[in-house]
Amino acid sequence: MNRTVSFSKHAVNVFFHILTRCNLSCRHCYINPDQHGRDNLPLSVIQQWLGAFSHKCSVANVIFLGGEPTLHPELADAVKAALRMGYASITIDTNGYLFHDILTRLTPDEVNYFSFSLDGATPRTNDQLRGEGSYERCLAGIRRAVEMGFGVSLIYTVSSMNLHELDQMPALLQKLGVRRFFIQVIGLRGKSVEEPGGRGHDGLQVDASSWLKIIPEVAQAASRIGIRTVYPKVFLAPDEPFECAGLEAENYFIFPNGRVYRCPLCEDYPLHSLVLEDGRLKATGKVNESDLFHLNIPEGCVMNRLLQPGNLSYDPDGGIQHRIACCMLKEEVGPLGDGG
Ligand code: SF4
Ligand code: SF4
Repeated sequence: MNRTVSFSKHAVNVFFHILTRCNLSCRHCYINPDQHGRDNLPLSVIQQWLGAFSHKCSVANVIFLGGEPTLHPELADAVKAALRMGYASITIDTNGYLFHDILTRLTPDEVNYFSFSLDGATPRTNDQLRGEGSYERCLAGIRRAVEMGFGVSLIYTVSSMNLHELDQMPALLQKLGVRRFFIQVIGLRGKSVEEPGGRGHDGLQVDASSWLKIIPEVAQAASRIGIRTVYPKVFLAPDEPFECAGLEAENYFIFPNGRVYRCPLCEDYPLHSLVLEDGRLKATGKVNESDLFHLNIPEGCVMNRLLQPGNLSYDPDGGIQHRIACCMLKEEVGPLGDGG
């Protein structure tokens, strides 16, 4: 069954980038140290910032990310601190290198999921995007985490370089014992590759018709073998309402320099609506992302209109063909999970 997952109105998601440093340099990496900072946050600051959301802990999910969060020597202590505060769920996003022997410093009772990133079903494709040897290291990490009884999920970021291997992923996930699959997208463009100007600036974007044809089919195939699959909705049907997560949901994207964004598409710009100062969450001055959330345009998401206009297409009379959903709106297929 296909479900559009509306934003969770009662949950809070804290996406906590505890550092921006990484051992890899993936082609599509969105981390921008000029905008996000370069520090490894000390444990004392991590605890303080986790505490800034402590009044919401019972409904708050924390996702530790980087950079590569396992490069942080105190990640295990940060997880234990979040547990003590009563966070509802804890996830660690990782490229699979699992530094500081993190699997032996935590137990499956302390972490809900290790979420591994892999961008190809074969070493050749994955390593072209993520770096030589990263496929084998990621698979070794997944195998070990599964053997040790940790919850494991996998994130596949679709681009023009790996779209052709997406259909091999359900079988690979089944073999590895992974039951949760997240498909992400680098960006979509409205024109086909053959058209002049159709290719995205970095050559990695996927065209909309391929996305619409391939992604739902792969998600269905994964669900048939018991793998819950989640992917971005992207295009809204004419009768579907547009909602902006910045207004309707509680997502916080925290960076080591203290910036806190409510919209992931704003992260490359100094548009954050909140900042962590002296351990407190404070509103920033105008103009910021929250001024954009209220703009009502026929194209749907305002930030998409500004940053990725290539995925918009218009009728000859100027009407929009598909409104673009908030990037946080997902389709979910397969066995119901825990919503984490
Ligand atoms: S593993 Fe993640 S943080 Fe590191 S380079 Fe790749 S995308 Fe960026
Ligand atoms: S992606 Fe668009 S719709 Fe979603 S929070 Fe950002 S501005 Fe709002």
